[in-house]
Amino acid sequence: MPVSSKNPILPFGDQRTAPWYGQDIISIKQFSRQDLEYIFAVAHEMRVMVERVGTFDLLKGKILANLFYEPSTRTSSSFAAAMERLGGSVISINEVRYSSVAKGESLPDTVRTLECYADVIVIRHPEVGSAAIAAASAQKPVINAGDGVGEHPTQALLDAFTIHEELGSLEGLTVTMLGDLKFGRTVHSLARLMSLYGARLHYVAPEILRMPAEIIRELKGKGVAQAEHVRPDGVIGETDVLYVTRVQRERFENEEVYNSVKGAYVVDAELMRRAKERMIVMHPLPRVNEISNEVDSDPRAAYFRQMEYGLYVRMALLAMVLGKA
Ligand code: ASP
Repeated sequence: MPVSSKNPILPFGDQRTAPWYGQDIISIKQFSRQDLEYIFAVAHEMRVMVERVGTFDLLKGKILANLFYEPSTRTSSSFAAAMERLGGSVISINEVRYSSVAKGESLPDTVRTLECYADVIVIRHPEVGSAAIAAASAQKPVINAGDGVGEHPTQALLDAFTIHEELGSLEGLTVTMLGDLKFGRTVHSLARLMSLYGARLHYVAPEILRMPAEIIRELKGKGVAQAEHVRPDGVIGETDVLYVTRVQRERFENEEVYNSVKGAYVVDAELMRRAKERMIVMHPLPRVNEISNEVDSDPRAAYFRQMEYGLYVRMALLAMVLGKA
């Protein structure tokens, strides 16, 4: 957990005791197992409350600024829904071309502006390290909703919560990550997170989309069992979590290179026949064609449920950084 709080002024008394109050969420590396257990517990309570009452006033009067420099459906709308379900409100800047960014405003200045109006800022930006720059410029908490090919920590947290709820535990699982492991930021965060739970990690990718060597090195240094493959066939039978990713077209400079790998894998009913009975298939979405529609009705297909878990996790994170959990 980060050591220093950005918010030394404590207008509501006992917020001081709330872990994560006033903190930024930039990288999954900030989280210990203890933090994760805490997030799962809060997210679970959020789920119970949403099922029971729908919307409640935990963050009444608080404002979230959703600043998206890259396209998003689930992350932006689930953060907005999370804030509104907690009784707060949202300033949405999804089309930065209509904001002062189009006039050449810098990221630090945009962030300094938004924090005059909002209590917390969620940011997605195409450059690695941008969320950290935003956080350094702001007094209010900043949450990284994807910094280019870097990280997507809140996705990894919701992925972990999904595994926790679906399989009962994260301990000692075999996780197979399939697809674009180079540009897919969600697997960068998830591999790091799963390393806290003694996971065995299989990376299945075309040669040019392999998991970055620095991540493999980092996890090797922690004693994580990792193996790279070109096909999923040899590992599907031992997989507890099959985590499928889209080939990230927008990160390719050359369309021909993209075309050469875009259809590298399709998870279909045939592959699922070779998978365990008790396992799950996940995908951060959007799906292009890497999971066949015929898999959707398989009870092991968890990717639509995963989106709903995301709402509860993002409610938990907003409540935490605003000192209400
Ligand atoms: N929605 C995820 C992300 O923003 C995955 C993807 O775009 O493929 O990273």
